[in-house]
Amino acid sequence: MRKKVIVIGGGPSGLMAAIAAAEGGADVVLLDKGDKLGRKLGISGGGRCNVTNNKDAAELIRFLPGNGRFLHSALSRFGSQEIIRLFESFGIALKEEDHGRMFPVTDKAKTVVDTLVGRVRELGVTIRVHQAVERVLFGEGRAAGVELKSGERIEAGAVIVATGGKSVPHTGSTGDGYAWAESAGHSVTELYPTEVPITSDEPWIRDRELQGLSLRDVRLTVLDGRGKAVIAHEGDMIFTHFGLSGPAALRCSQFVVRTLRQGKGPAAVAIDLFPSDGEDELAAAWTKAAREEPRKAVKTLVRQWLPERMVPLALRQAALEPEAVVANVPKSAWLALAAWCKSLRVSASGTLSIEEAFITGGGVSVKEVDPRTMASKRMPGLYFCGEVLDVHGYTGGYNITAAFATGHAAGSAAAEEVRSLAEGG
Ligand SMILES: Cc1cc2nc3c(=O)[nH]c(=O)nc-3n(C[C@H](O)[C@H](O)[C@H](O)COP(=O)(O)OP(=O)(O)OC[C@H]3O[C@@H](n4cnc5c(N)ncnc54)[C@H](O)[C@@H]3O)c2cc1C
Repeated sequence: MRKKVIVIGGGPSGLMAAIAAAEGGADVVLLDKGDKLGRKLGISGGGRCNVTNNKDAAELIRFLPGNGRFLHSALSRFGSQEIIRLFESFGIALKEEDHGRMFPVTDKAKTVVDTLVGRVRELGVTIRVHQAVERVLFGEGRAAGVELKSGERIEAGAVIVATGGKSVPHTGSTGDGYAWAESAGHSVTELYPTEVPITSDEPWIRDRELQGLSLRDVRLTVLDGRGKAVIAHEGDMIFTHFGLSGPAALRCSQFVVRTLRQGKGPAAVAIDLFPSDGEDELAAAWTKAAREEPRKAVKTLVRQWLPERMVPLALRQAALEPEAVVANVPKSAWLALAAWCKSLRVSASGTLSIEEAFITGGGVSVKEVDPRTMASKRMPGLYFCGEVLDVHGYTGGYNITAAFATGHAAGSAAAEEVRSLAEGG
């Protein structure tokens, strides 16, 4: 029993923990309450699985705003290069897309899941699906095994909690691990949605005026109630019937949540439609165009710069008459329109729920976990890895990378611990 390592959860962190523990010589049991392993992994990256990001540890940490520095040691030992090499060693080539994002060349998340599950099987890990863990058992001042919902108890020398966060619960991530952490004396920081669409009560959003309109390479700035910039991100976004979505909006979302939770609201998002041009430059370009074609209607000229669906809103809010001929438009009006384009304000009432978020923010406090081994500093024999920890990254392969890195650290360390237990060390 003492040589046994139990891994609870068959997501990327649990699969990697099981592989590392088995490679370290442990007798591993991998338990998952679902009917198959890697369900969230299987739908990740739009079904293509953005498995990692081709950056070194220091760079990866910059894209993990939720306690990324805690991962320094784990990522230095098992980061994106190790992940790429591991998949290559299994005969799975990865390809790089924009911003360093790595995907399997098959463009199928299933390839990633099947490869990891195949390796777990090859190493002789006992896989038990449909096995919901009720609680972690403790005895003689250490983790001693688990009790399943069925009442069955399994003893072990080490238990690795890899149960994920609370987002997209139909994949099995229902937040079960947090209570077990607390029962071992850990603190769990407040949970909140991250990488989630932003909601807005703006009337033109609620009226679906721009629903479905996507913008490329815009700059989004989150503003607090005093109009102070909290964070800015550039990228693509889309207007929805409830607010803003798309990569840049997802990145901004956790800062909207924090601003509101800290009582610094009401929050807003300012969209800069032309991040590389100044207000004066835009106004000058429009004034010049108006001089060249003075009989044009304002709406016709503006359509050359803005998406057609956006023109009525832009002219309304910048107080320009759509049918007016451009010869009659004063420079001040072009300046007002330029100011609008540089800072299209959208009130931000919040975000969609934690269940609808891509990632859960908050979790098992990293202050109470050893960053080299992912071992609990409160309870010998207990380990945490993946999204159950208070660690989160932006979309772009950073979360799966964090799951692999922490899973690898936990599995290797747990194997070492049970080896020394078995030897009576
Ligand atoms: C739609 C979507 C797309 C994503 N795309 C990407 C992407 O492309 N790249 C990226 O880096 N990140 C992506 N993410 C985030 C990434 O998938 C997660 O951060 C990652 O899966 C977390 O891994 P994990 O092992 O910690 O937990 P999970 O993958 O959540 O796995 C937890 C496992 O624990 C099991 N479990 C839970 N409770 C129990 C219990 N009581 N008993 C037994 N088993 C239990 C669950 O059944 C589940 O299988 C995406 C997330 C979503 C929702």
